[in-house]
Amino acid sequence: MNLILMGLPGAGKGTQAKEINKKYNIPHISTGDMFRLAIKEGTELGNKAKAYMDEGNLVPDEVTIGIVRERLSKDDCSNGFLLDGFPRTIAQAEALQELLADMNESIDYVIHVDVPEEKLVERLTGRRICPTCGATYHVKYNPPKIEGKCDNDGSELIQRDDDKPETVKNRLAVNIEQTKPLLNFYEDKGYLVSVNGDQDINQVFEDIRTKIEK
Ligand code: ADP
Ligand code: ADP
Repeated sequence: MNLILMGLPGAGKGTQAKEINKKYNIPHISTGDMFRLAIKEGTELGNKAKAYMDEGNLVPDEVTIGIVRERLSKDDCSNGFLLDGFPRTIAQAEALQELLADMNESIDYVIHVDVPEEKLVERLTGRRICPTCGATYHVKYNPPKIEGKCDNDGSELIQRDDDKPETVKNRLAVNIEQTKPLLNFYEDKGYLVSVNGDQDINQVFEDIRTKIEK
């Protein structure tokens, strides 16, 4: 199954991607995670991406499309994939269409996790992540068992630099502008399914399952 998760920052894409990955055994490909890893490792890609990410702006299309092309060519994508955070622009969506056509593949569903804008600031500023395993928590809605510590490995949880209130506003503004045309693009192609992301995490997953298994 070839899936794309769409939704504004904080909508719950990463959270749902973990569940989808577990259930359907397809790799979770997050461009944001790939950039963050590159920055942590100090690679050339990381150096290119960092300045854009720190401001809450998008990394240029040619850089982003390049890493996705490379990732989709790996063996573990042969049974399908789950894209999270890509595409974010029409140019990226068109590049993806071409890439998949070259691979004799196509998209099955584009899952739009829909959450009202006014809820997102709280979701983002309350998000905490584990620097070791990448698990995501929320101080109020999805807290770890022991405050500030990862359930999986006990690491001290951290806040992403771009989840600080100063950056969150710009990030949301940039994304709101860019998401609408993409939703239209996929709706026109008949791939789009929407789920209400403003529900309990498990209920959101149940709704996704119902839509993609029908
Ligand atoms: P969130 O999980 O909050 O939606 P991501 O982790 O997907 O955010 O992305 C974090 C940052 O990485 C973005 O603000 C942007 O700078 C960069 N980024 C991720 N995916 C893309 C993309 N497809 N195109 C351009 N920039 C991207
Ligand atoms: P995205 O990848 O779309 O940016 P995340 O999956 O990282 O979003 O979720 C953003 C924040 O909101 C995290 O702190 C996460 O724990 C929390 N969250 C995710 N889904 C829900 C939900 N259905 N209800 C409440 N909080 C949620």
